[in-house]
Amino acid sequence: PDRLVEGERAPHDAAEATLRPLALDEFIGQREMRDNLRVFITAAANRREALDHVLLHGPPGLGKTTLAQIVARELGVGFRATSGPVIARPGDLAAILTNLDARDVLFIDEIHRLSPTVEEILYPAMEDGKLDLMIGEGPAARSIRIDLAPFTLVGATTRSGLLTTPLRERFGIPLRLQFYAADELETIVSRAAGILDFALGRDGAFEIARRSRGTPRIAVRLLRRVRDFAAVNGSGPVNAAEADAALQRLQVDERGLDAMDRRYLRCLADFYAGGPAGIDTLAAALAEQRDTLEDVIEPFLLQQGLIMRTPRGRMLTTSAYTHLGLPPPASAMA
Ligand code: ADP
Repeated sequence: PDRLVEGERAPHDAAEATLRPLALDEFIGQREMRDNLRVFITAAANRREALDHVLLHGPPGLGKTTLAQIVARELGVGFRATSGPVIARPGDLAAILTNLDARDVLFIDEIHRLSPTVEEILYPAMEDGKLDLMIGEGPAARSIRIDLAPFTLVGATTRSGLLTTPLRERFGIPLRLQFYAADELETIVSRAAGILDFALGRDGAFEIARRSRGTPRIAVRLLRRVRDFAAVNGSGPVNAAEADAALQRLQVDERGLDAMDRRYLRCLADFYAGGPAGIDTLAAALAEQRDTLEDVIEPFLLQQGLIMRTPRGRMLTTSAYTHLGLPPPASAMA
């Protein structure tokens, strides 16, 4: 993604790997989930068994990969990472599985994108530690069975609805990650600033946190940009005003909306009197794909209560007018 405020991982986010918490105690937020996970990890470690398979579900950038690595570390076992689209054929998965040591963690990101033929050999591997492979073709083909070392599969998905039922049912520990509160993000930003050796005041950290859309990846990304401005501009710990100035230049406003979000809201306000306007009409007016609006722009605006979806189209809420600094129309709707 080329937007600063997108949760998806971008190539320029590679630096975030050094900012990852390494232990469960350093992982901020997600309290309830973390407490449960600690119990399961301790129990499995005491029994010297592989941890049950874990499914992590939640929007991009909330810490699924980070958690998977932490699970392996806390268990004191090896970690291997891959992703659904990368495992093209059953043989690819077989190669990975047969190379795992006992109790290792295998992390499969975007697990909802596994191909059906790969999924099929994953089921018995998860359930009984068996791998059933067909070798050869035609009349010479035969099936062989391989016993695997016990392992823990940690699957991550942004869309658990896209997982097939048999796959979903094979995870003993399903965990759902929530968006982070601003004070949790502030802690994440402060911690990351410390690692980066960047002098950032608490109010400066909060200024970044509240614009980060509940998402650590965005928080860390904004932090790195603010740090660039600070390096160019001045000395001393960066305070709220300086963070605010940098973020304004990056066009990320105090609610974490960027220029694209505001253009969407302004379009509804200026051309359609706040709506309702149909999605195709809006897409044409903004010269954007309908999918981009539905998948990329609208979810956050809906979640923030800035727009509503009605049977007759999209509408602005009064809170959107307030945010844009515009008076709501006389016949205000929400
Ligand atoms: P996902 O796999 O869900 O897309 P990641 O695990 O890659 O997300 O997290 C993105 C970045 O955000 C990490 O590299 C890390 O720097 C930061 N991060 C995520 N969750 C936390 C957390 N709970 N505490 C501290 N930093 C976090």
